[in-house]
Amino acid sequence: MTTRISHWIDNQSQPGVSGRAAPVFNPATGAHTADVDLASSAEVNAAVARAAEAARQWRRASLSRRSTVLFAFRELLHTHADELAAIVTAEHGKVLADAGGEIARGLENVEFATGAPQLLKGGFSEQASSGVDVYSIRQPLGVVAGITPFNFPVMVPLWMCANAIVTGNAFILKPSEKDPSAALFLARLWKEAGLPDGVFTVLQGDKEAVDALLTHPDIAAISFVGSTPIARYIYETGTAHGKRVQALGGAKNHMLVLPDAEVELAADAAVSAAYGAAGERCMALSVVVAVGSVGDGLVEAIATRLPKLTIGDGAHPDTDMGPLITAAHRDKVAGYIGAGADAGATLVVDGREREVPERGFFLGTTLMDHVSTDMTVYTDEIFGPVLCVLRVQTYEEGVAIINANPFANGTAIFTRDGGAARQFQFDVEVGMVGINVPIPVPVAYYSFGGWKSSLFGDAHMYGPEGINFYTRGKVVTSRWPDPATSSIDLGFPRNQ
Ligand code: NAD
Repeated sequence: MTTRISHWIDNQSQPGVSGRAAPVFNPATGAHTADVDLASSAEVNAAVARAAEAARQWRRASLSRRSTVLFAFRELLHTHADELAAIVTAEHGKVLADAGGEIARGLENVEFATGAPQLLKGGFSEQASSGVDVYSIRQPLGVVAGITPFNFPVMVPLWMCANAIVTGNAFILKPSEKDPSAALFLARLWKEAGLPDGVFTVLQGDKEAVDALLTHPDIAAISFVGSTPIARYIYETGTAHGKRVQALGGAKNHMLVLPDAEVELAADAAVSAAYGAAGERCMALSVVVAVGSVGDGLVEAIATRLPKLTIGDGAHPDTDMGPLITAAHRDKVAGYIGAGADAGATLVVDGREREVPERGFFLGTTLMDHVSTDMTVYTDEIFGPVLCVLRVQTYEEGVAIINANPFANGTAIFTRDGGAARQFQFDVEVGMVGINVPIPVPVAYYSFGGWKSSLFGDAHMYGPEGINFYTRGKVVTSRWPDPATSSIDLGFPRNQ
C-alpha cells in the first residue's frame, strides 16, 4: 500500500477531500511510493479563510516574538537537516550531499529573516516642517502564497516563507506535486518552533489549486518559481486579479571561457555546474561559450572527467549524480540529445550510451560540441545532464550570443584577466553573474533573480527585495500643535 500525502492546515495534517490525487515516485528505483492529495478550489477557499484569520492575529505579534519563532525554526531546521535531506533525496533523486546543500542555502534565508527587527526599521525625519515629524513604516500584506518547483523542495519554499512570515503575513505554500513531503516536514518544524495555527499552510495540488490561489480576492501576493511558460501565466493571471506577483522562470546559463582561462579549473567548474543534480537546477550550466584557442583543450578536459562520475541512487554516499525526476522527463532529455546530433552537433559524450541502473529514471552525462544557436539543444531549456559547447572567435561574439538569448538567469566568465571580467560584468544582460564562480546564487542578504524571460515582475526573490515584496510602505506625517494656534487655511499645505 502506498502512503497518502496530505495538506497542512491550522497546524495539523488534513487529508484531502477532493477525491483527486497524483502519484509520487522514488526516481532512483522507479517505485510508486505515495499518492499526494490535490486540493479542489473549495479546499483552497477554506484554507485561505483560515489563513486570513491567522494573518490578522499574527501581524499583532511583536517583532521580538516573530523573530524568536524564526530563531527556534532555524535551530530545528539545523538539527533535523539530515532527516530532511533524506526526504528530498527519496522523492527528488538528488544526492544526499546536494540535498544537504540546498537545506544549508535555505537556512541562510531563515537566518537573514531573524534580523527582521533591523530590516523593518523605517525612516524618521524630525522637524520636516515646523512642528511636523515624518516617518515611514512597513506593514504586512495579509495572506501571501508561494508556488514552488520540484527541483528545490526545501530551499525555494524557504526563500519565500521565512521573509513572508517574519514580516507578519500568513503564508500558503503550494509545493510541486512531484516531491511534496519536504513541505510537510517544514510545516511540522514551524509548529514546533511556536508558530501560531494558520500562519503556515501547505496546500498540495496542481493547476486547480494554483488557479484558485491566483484568483482568490484574499490572497495579496504570489511568489512563483518554475518554468517560463507557467511563470508568465502566473504573472499575467495574478496581476489581472490585483495581486503583487514575482514569478521566476526557466534558464539557459552560459559560461564564457576566455583563452587565458585556467583550463583544468574551468573544466572542473563546468562539470560541477552542468551535471550536479543531473542538471535540474535553474542555475545549472547549459552552455559553454569557448573563445578562440581554449575550445579544444577545454572540451577534452570536460570529456575526460565524465566517465569518472558515479551515477546511481542519490541515497548512496558514493554517488555523484542521481536520476532525473520522472521517466517522461528522462525521455524528453534523451530526445534532445538525438535532435542535437541530427542537427549537426558533435556528440563528444553520449549520455544515452552510458550504463546506468536499470530501474529508476537515469540518464548518463552528455557533452555536445559545435552547437549552433539555431539548434533546439541551444534554444530550449533542457533541464537535464546535457552540456553544449559553442565555439566563437572573440569575447564580443560570445557576449553578443549571451545577450541575444531570451533567458537571463545566471552567467559566468572564466578568465585570469580582471579587466576582461569587469568588462563582462558591465556588458552582460543577465541578472546574476559569476566571475570564476560557475553557480552565482547570491547570498541571502542580496536578492535572487534573473532578467528577461527568467523573471516576470519587478521584485527579485529573498534578501532586501523579499522584505519589500512582502510588506507595503506607509508614511506618517504627524504634528502635536498647541490648540491655541489653530486656524483654518484652505491653501495646499506647504513646508515652513
Ligand atoms: P513547473 O513550471 O512545471 O511547475 C512549477 C509549479 O507550478 C509547480 O508547483 C506546479 O504544480 C505548478 N504548475 C505546473 N503547471 C501548471 C499550470 N499549467 N498551471 C498552474 N500551475 C502549474 O516547473 P518544475 O518542472 O516544477 O520546475 C522546473 C522549472 O523551474 C525549470 O524551468 C527551472 O528553470 C525552473 N526554476 C527556476 C528557478 C529560478 O529561480 N528562476 C529556480 C528553480 C527552478
